[in-house]
Amino acid sequence: MTKHQLPSVETRLYINGEWVEGSKEKIPVTNPATGDVLTEIHQGAEAETEAAIAAAKKAFPTWSELPVTERAAYMNKLADLIEEDTNRLATIMTLEQGKPLTQAAGEIKSNVENLRWNAAQAQRVFGEIIPSPPTNQWQVRKQPVGVVGAITPWNFPSNMIIRKIAPGIAVGCTIVLKPAKETPLSALALMELFEKAEFPAGVVNIVLGDAKPIGKVLSESEDVAKITFTGSTNVGKILNQQASDSLKKVSLELGGHAPYIIFPDADLELAVDTLITTKFRNNGQVCVSPNRIFVHQDVKEEVTHLLVEKIQEVTVGDGMDDPTTGPLINQAGLDKVVAQLKDATEKGAKVLFGGQQLTEGEYQNGFFFQPTVLDEVTTDMDIYYEETFGPVIPLITFEDEDEVIKAANDTEFGLASYFFANNIQTIDKVSRGLDYGMVGVNDTAISNSATPFGGMKHSGFGRENGIYGVEEYVEVKFVNIRTAK
Ligand code: ADP
Repeated sequence: MTKHQLPSVETRLYINGEWVEGSKEKIPVTNPATGDVLTEIHQGAEAETEAAIAAAKKAFPTWSELPVTERAAYMNKLADLIEEDTNRLATIMTLEQGKPLTQAAGEIKSNVENLRWNAAQAQRVFGEIIPSPPTNQWQVRKQPVGVVGAITPWNFPSNMIIRKIAPGIAVGCTIVLKPAKETPLSALALMELFEKAEFPAGVVNIVLGDAKPIGKVLSESEDVAKITFTGSTNVGKILNQQASDSLKKVSLELGGHAPYIIFPDADLELAVDTLITTKFRNNGQVCVSPNRIFVHQDVKEEVTHLLVEKIQEVTVGDGMDDPTTGPLINQAGLDKVVAQLKDATEKGAKVLFGGQQLTEGEYQNGFFFQPTVLDEVTTDMDIYYEETFGPVIPLITFEDEDEVIKAANDTEFGLASYFFANNIQTIDKVSRGLDYGMVGVNDTAISNSATPFGGMKHSGFGRENGIYGVEEYVEVKFVNIRTAK
């Protein structure tokens, strides 16, 4: 088996417990490191989406009324199957998405944790008894919302799916999933394992094909109670508008433009090491990737020196060889990085390291770009306000706390933010002042099965993971029982 051999994986849609061919033409899935076609997948459209919704609707009453311990047992079985299949799942992900194998395996591990966490949490989705007059009993019950439409992106092609499906099925919802066209195989491989875990037909369904018609049917259907989406702000707004007529619940995890602030009293080695690890995770194609690096003027020289020294250790290559970082997802992703750099340098930014596309030898057919450090970034440059989604570290110098809080908040986004400092007053003031759904202080690990993940402003609303994530999939019902006259 060569290193680019695709492990065996389904290419059809999975609806009502059956693998079905789609009514549209098949499309290829390509490897972004080599440009090679890995396989072709089937595509459906409106009719298949309607069929998947009908299957999920039919499965809902039985699934939602199963004892919660039984739903948890299915989920734990799925977690075990995913864990056993880590190598195949990680290989599929690396081949279609490009990320290094170790990162892909880490993503699969996070799925296992997420499923087990939600299987346990499902058993603790408690209602309430509220103090009432003696003649009545006031109950608060939590009920699953119903059929959920989930639309997911390509950057975390497996975890974005599980973090949506796991809390949903845990509380009794049923699911119609539409994965990204760049990375359908990771989704299909998961569906195979749902089938192997013997989930009842219709609990989880997958529709492949053109996003617009599928997204429209899902978001407008009266039979879909909730839409959960991770992707671009533009598409999130479209889905929110389409969902408004049927007054669905909507959760949107959209773009980000995370500030990363280094205060003068910070542990600079830690700040720089963490910046490099975080920035080159998935080659910067992460909605919580540090995108604007604010460095205090007193430590700017030292930070820059450390950064340019340490970035030289970052290796770029085919994900199957497990470098630090892989290719970008496609030509459009590459073009955006090139355009942002051109715009910034024309307006006076200085490239301190990298800055070029990689096109020779092993890089020639993939979408590779050098790890890049850009200095003297200012507010008139596109990179200051636009999400980057690539391997570029833009440096901005600041002088005082109030100024940097204001600058960090000067964006339409409000997903993740990070800062490095040791002074307790600074930590308190800055963590209060940042208008972001997540704040990492001396750390960037803000995504865990147990902790709320989500944003403010144009980064969307709703939370994934943790108890807040589960709450997104239940309706709160108040029941007032008169027990005496
Ligand atoms: P990205 O820039 O990360 O590809 P997108 O928002 O375009 O972000 O894609 C995220 C997900 O949304 C993918 O599954 C994609 O197919 C889907 N998508 C794109 N356009 C639409 C649309 N008009 N309606 C519904 N889903 C869409």
